[in-house]
Amino acid sequence: MAIPSRLPATLGALKRDAGGRRPHRTVKDEVRANLIQRLRAREPLFSGVVGFDDTVIPQLVNAILSKHNFILLGLRGQAKTRLLRSLVTLLDESIPAVAGCEIRDDPFHPLCASCRARAAAMGDDLPIEWLSRDARYVEKLATPDVTIADLIGDVDPIKAARRGLELGDEQTMHYGLLPRANRGIFAINELPDLAGKIQVGLFNILQEGDVQLKGYPVRLRLDVLMAFTANPEDYTARGKIITPLKDRIGSEIRTHYASSRPLAMAITAQEAWLDRPDATGPLDVPVWVREVIEEVAFQARADRRIDKRSGVSQRLPITVIENVASNAERRALASSDTPPVARLSDVYAALPSITGKFELEYEGELRGADVIARELIRSAVANVFLASLDGLDTARTVDWFDGGGTLPMEDMLPSTELLSRASRVPGLLESTRFFGVGDHEPAPLRASAVEFILEGLRKKFPVLESATTPR
Ligand SMILES: [Zn+2]
Repeated sequence: MAIPSRLPATLGALKRDAGGRRPHRTVKDEVRANLIQRLRAREPLFSGVVGFDDTVIPQLVNAILSKHNFILLGLRGQAKTRLLRSLVTLLDESIPAVAGCEIRDDPFHPLCASCRARAAAMGDDLPIEWLSRDARYVEKLATPDVTIADLIGDVDPIKAARRGLELGDEQTMHYGLLPRANRGIFAINELPDLAGKIQVGLFNILQEGDVQLKGYPVRLRLDVLMAFTANPEDYTARGKIITPLKDRIGSEIRTHYASSRPLAMAITAQEAWLDRPDATGPLDVPVWVREVIEEVAFQARADRRIDKRSGVSQRLPITVIENVASNAERRALASSDTPPVARLSDVYAALPSITGKFELEYEGELRGADVIARELIRSAVANVFLASLDGLDTARTVDWFDGGGTLPMEDMLPSTELLSRASRVPGLLESTRFFGVGDHEPAPLRASAVEFILEGLRKKFPVLESATTPR
């Protein structure tokens, strides 16, 4: 973000701007104040976060109002990172810092010795730079190999020798990520993956502003809002998080997956890349396909062969719908079958975007991810079909199959060909009207509806399994 150049460039100008005051507020004060303003104005708080209005958001608001460091506990793909990143919008647009300071000192209250020395020598001429809010958010994925030097810093013997300083002097310090995030928000994802002694270092910074580097005590009174994420089981497992650090995390907030299919569909619609006018014209993913895609994730989360501990991310339906759309595009490109309309068979073609999204339990491993994924799609179809086709009279169609009729299908079949084959089956074409798809709708949409009805019927009447192409 570009910062307007008319902002004060020296401490003197900054003082005149502030009317002689020496304003100082911590990051937590700042975030709290901006949140209060937004709450008072009844403005949306965390845009793009869907389904948390009555659960996660109120708890997060309370944590911020309480000026807490906090942790989001949740499984993968529960919008934890998105929530953390949206905290940036609660920071001021820009704040002044001492120009060139590695830890972005407040010009009115410089922390580091070098800024204090410059301030004393230069007085009102001390140069100021402006930090955008984006520059004040730092995120780190915890891994077991993160060191104190990475996170907090290290003492630099060469610097010390050159300047004739003691090793414990903070001017010999090479700053890590956390000091460089001073006056901002520092987020650590998967906190339990941090080694115990790094957690101790973190705790010392939060608690005392003191830390030992290579045995030398270094004082660092940092001003940061710390936010963490963790898998709930990792976080509560004994010995994963040192107790004093846990104690310093003011609020634990549980996230969750979308509680209903419509909410989940709203998230997927928001996140997925479906606006692709470049290839074959506007894409259509009909609601029955969207429902099935979403239901795959719900089925997976309930499946005992899939590891509950790691969860099934919302990224599953998002990547599936993108892959489904691509299969529809591919069909449209191959046979000039436009506009591209997704079909259920495209969901089966999207297996590569499903199989990597869950961890299998032993029983699941025996069957293989591909088999499990297919079964998930089948039970998703059954669930959606049985609910949405209640009341559709399919007797004539089923009778025809009972009498030995067959209808071979494949996912690359052009719509006109699919419809022409389907026209031989009594009652089948007409039944698309049940979905509001009349005879004058574009062929690709009618084909998609026909295919969904057939797929659903296969679930309900085993005779259709062999009469249409097996999957
Ligand atoms: Zn400084």
